[in-house]
Amino acid sequence: MKNILSIDLEDYFCDLPFSSWSNYTSRVVPTTEIILELLTKYKVSATFFTLGSIAEQFPELIEKIVSLGHEIASHGYSHLDLRKINKDILENEIKKSIILLEKISGEKINGFRAPFFSISRNNLDSFDIIQKYFKYDSSIFPAKTPLYGIPSAPRFPYRFSSNHPLEKNPNGKLLELPPATLKIPLYGNLPIAGGFYLRFLPLSLIKYGINKLNKIEESAMFYIHPKDLDVNMPKIDSYSWHYYYNLKNGKKKFESLLKNFKFSSVRDTYLF
Ligand SMILES: [Zn+2]
Repeated sequence: MKNILSIDLEDYFCDLPFSSWSNYTSRVVPTTEIILELLTKYKVSATFFTLGSIAEQFPELIEKIVSLGHEIASHGYSHLDLRKINKDILENEIKKSIILLEKISGEKINGFRAPFFSISRNNLDSFDIIQKYFKYDSSIFPAKTPLYGIPSAPRFPYRFSSNHPLEKNPNGKLLELPPATLKIPLYGNLPIAGGFYLRFLPLSLIKYGINKLNKIEESAMFYIHPKDLDVNMPKIDSYSWHYYYNLKNGKKKFESLLKNFKFSSVRDTYLF
């Protein structure tokens, strides 16, 4: 059973407002290199949900990712929270990112992930725009977390009807790829998909969750940021503890998953 590996390609300071980014020194190239080395070592392809602004600044990094056989998808241009912007701004972000990413990668951009997984029940109409430009999306987190999520959303990949993004329709245009969760009786869906959860949860629990999905023939959608493996991530005052929790074991845990499970990009899995 193949699982899906995705990387949200952004710098460690990209959760801050775009206007402040120039105050920080970029670390995205060396930290992405760590990921690329591991992917080459374990012969894994991945989907890089890439910020347009990062591609604009580091086109050689994108060219290298493409030359290694990975897929480039969109993460918007300037990492805006979809819950805080209107549809015109969203469309502008998406268009701008697609133009840059297609130009630099030389490939068609088929997929999107909202920054901060920022799709809630209140902004499902974002899909009016997302559907216009993409074949697949991976923005709806089917869990309840302090920062995001729609706990009742479908847990496994599905196509949705044009009337409602949470309703399945096998003939729907857009494929939704929810990040992996483990369903726990009386608790709900526990995110096991990567990022902070990779650093926070015991590896045995993450492995148990992926195995559980694979046993019922479902792929786990996994994600990681370059900063999740960055032991030297500079301190940002407004970042809470979860940005820094257990960074020292991020790489080791990620590598253990690559060693023990099969992963590939969305494109290689769904043959886009
Ligand atoms: Zn992001």
